Amino acid sequence: MTTLIKEVKQKKHSKQGMLENVMEQFEHAAELVNLNPNIKKILSVTNNELIIHFPVRMDNGDVEIFKGYRVQHNNALGPYKGGLRYHPTIDIDAVKALAMWMTWKTALAGLPYGGAKGGIQMDPKKYSLGELERITRRFTYALGDNIGPEHDIPAPDVNTNAQTMAWIADTYMSTKKPSERSKNQHVVTGKPIGSGGLEGRDRATGYGVFLNIKFWAEQKNVHLKDKTFIVQGFGNVGYWAAHFLEKEGAKLVGVQDVFGTIINKEGLVVENLLDYTKNNEGSIVGFPNSENRDKEDFFGLDCDICIPAALGNQITEEKAHQIKAFLIAEGANGPTTVEAEKLLLERGVAIIPDILCNSGGVIGSYFEWLQNRNGELWELDEIMERLHKKMKEVFLKVLKVSETKKMDMRSAAYVLAIERLERTYIQRGVFP
Ligand code: GLU
Repeated sequence: MTTLIKEVKQKKHSKQGMLENVMEQFEHAAELVNLNPNIKKILSVTNNELIIHFPVRMDNGDVEIFKGYRVQHNNALGPYKGGLRYHPTIDIDAVKALAMWMTWKTALAGLPYGGAKGGIQMDPKKYSLGELERITRRFTYALGDNIGPEHDIPAPDVNTNAQTMAWIADTYMSTKKPSERSKNQHVVTGKPIGSGGLEGRDRATGYGVFLNIKFWAEQKNVHLKDKTFIVQGFGNVGYWAAHFLEKEGAKLVGVQDVFGTIINKEGLVVENLLDYTKNNEGSIVGFPNSENRDKEDFFGLDCDICIPAALGNQITEEKAHQIKAFLIAEGANGPTTVEAEKLLLERGVAIIPDILCNSGGVIGSYFEWLQNRNGELWELDEIMERLHKKMKEVFLKVLKVSETKKMDMRSAAYVLAIERLERTYIQRGVFP
């Protein structure tokens, strides 16, 4: 048994973590494809794990020490790729799990990337903008050449955004000699438009979630008009997915964020809710004509489609029993536990898995990276069209495997991702 699997199994009886979840998914898929045991050993462990403690001066003059992570899981298919997350729950196991999901996600999407993830263990709400800038810049400096435009390319994730990426790009480029600076702009993706960012990168993940729902509905002859949906997390992913679904005629009837849970059976107007949060310190609570609900009731709300677009391990066994939706579209990474998924599938609930459903983000990142590398500027229409084409192609591939091999969509997505990695390892062999 590989070390990582052993480590994970020993933790089995502690709180179920995301690492245990991704490893169980991987083991299941490895059995399905009868994965070469040597390649399984390689993919079961992470290539590199970096934990960095770094000091930052706070506004009051005190120095605070932060804990930052970057885990590079695998780079057989290309440079490491994956977001940076700022959250108090970030720890080494969470980052390992998220890095592995990135490897499967990029492999499934057919991108020339591997998988990585990172972040800082902290609650960004507790810091001023100036402090966040200094934390980000100091972390970037500490990462040094462990990241790089052709080596490991971070992007936004939970609680990080285009501004965070602009600080990282600027800091990283400042450490290079003047003549080399601009060719390092693609060290991160998800940058602001004026700083090498891609038009539409902000909406790419949420748009991709919407597209996956739309493709699924088309295949199953379901009309999205008047269907009801709920969204957990009203950040970048949740908002944009809701925006596009509402445009299609579906109705947002419940939202949950870190501050609370609100409902309105008649529908919550997505743009009004966004405007409201902007003037309410980011919170959805108190939105006119909405009713508050207990946090624990969220997944049991009456609806047709459920979009978890926040953190991992949200849909547990207990929650799976309560779910009324017929479709779960995973905007978040790892929102459904393995046990919960078994129950949901038995109950006939369809799940569009994270590595497919939220891959619009990293596909958008790939477009930005290409644009920077080639000194090009792409227009929004063209980008959205390319994203649509790519997402449809991947969705149909997954659906086909799931139908022909009679397996759920997550298993089908893993089969495609792992077979691609296996082919590459077989061609290349293992050095020396
Ligand atoms: N954080 C996003 C994800 O989990 C995007 C990663 C990227 O663009 O590199 O897929």
